[in-house]
Amino acid sequence: KNAAHDTGDNIVIRMRTFIDALKQHNYAYYVLDNPILEDSEYDQLRRSLVTLEESHPELVQPDSPINQVGDMPLSAFTQVTHDIPMLSLGNVFDYDELHAFMRRVNDRLNDAQKNPEYEMELKLDGLAVSLKYEHGKFVQAVTRGDGQTGEDITQNTKTIRNLPLWLADAADIELLEVRGEVLMPKAGFDRLNRLAEESENKTFANPRNAAAGSLRQLDPAIAASRPLAFYAYSINQGLPETIETQSAGLAWLKTIGFTVSAVEVVANPRAAQTYYESVIDMRSDLPFEIDGMVIKVNNLSLQQQLGFLSREPRWATAYKFPAETVMTRLNDIEWQV
Ligand code: NAD
Repeated sequence: KNAAHDTGDNIVIRMRTFIDALKQHNYAYYVLDNPILEDSEYDQLRRSLVTLEESHPELVQPDSPINQVGDMPLSAFTQVTHDIPMLSLGNVFDYDELHAFMRRVNDRLNDAQKNPEYEMELKLDGLAVSLKYEHGKFVQAVTRGDGQTGEDITQNTKTIRNLPLWLADAADIELLEVRGEVLMPKAGFDRLNRLAEESENKTFANPRNAAAGSLRQLDPAIAASRPLAFYAYSINQGLPETIETQSAGLAWLKTIGFTVSAVEVVANPRAAQTYYESVIDMRSDLPFEIDGMVIKVNNLSLQQQLGFLSREPRWATAYKFPAETVMTRLNDIEWQV
């Protein structure tokens, strides 16, 4: 009896250790834009807690960050509540997990709907931003923040060169909300860090954090000097009625003036795997960093039918790239914190 009690205590201690570590790393990453761990190491840490919570649901701690999106925004910017929450994505790490994701999708669909078409996109490693256009005119940009509330970064976002400020072809749409990723291309990141080194300023850990840090500059002139780019990946309000799929939505965004990244429509898990592997092979040739692929049910009405879990859609997941160094350092991480 005592042994069982001890085990429970030990599990709670382990959970608390993971929670404290995750909170510290979330703060460093989302608030300070200055991570301590590699993403793959962070993902392992997170998974360790998920595994523990799944096998001991009765011991889940009330402040577990597992269902949380991002972190609270900085107070220096005006906070804006999203009309529609900006969530995260679940993730899979290998073919079996991808297959399991597709099976879970199938389980929720009726016979005629099973085995839907999927659409694959690059998982751009920047930060999610929501843009609003009123009658074609750009009016607001907000960060994801904690998913419900983000930071108003309209002024800084206006300085992004490839971001359209006026959409002639969307002038008849009262409110268009487009979401996408703001990122810093590799070449610009290298140049920025070289300049920072020369002037003995702090360098950025990676392009993702450089992009996030740049967008949160209080001086728009500094943000303007940073090489940022916007890639659109969804239409969240004001969708034209004729658009029925994610791939058609991205094609439309491109025709009205947005930059979108590569899109591939696949019919089954094998085809998804083949495309995923081909992208891994060309990953280093891309002008920006990606940390995996995003795979989405292509049909928008099926997406709507599938809906959301607490922090992620049921109709999409991130298929992360394999990490090289994780296993060797995992033990360190668990007890280092
Ligand atoms: P995520 O990056 O795993 O997935 C969700 C995000 O993917 C979206 O918010 C969106 O910004 C992005 N995305 C990119 N391309 C997309 C596309 N084509 N379609 C849709 N979305 C696209 O989510 P997250 O919740 O921000 O957090 C987890 C990530 O942050 C992990 O990679 C994790 O390793 C990293 N992280 C690292 C640390 C650290 O200490 N190193 C700390 C916290 C988080």
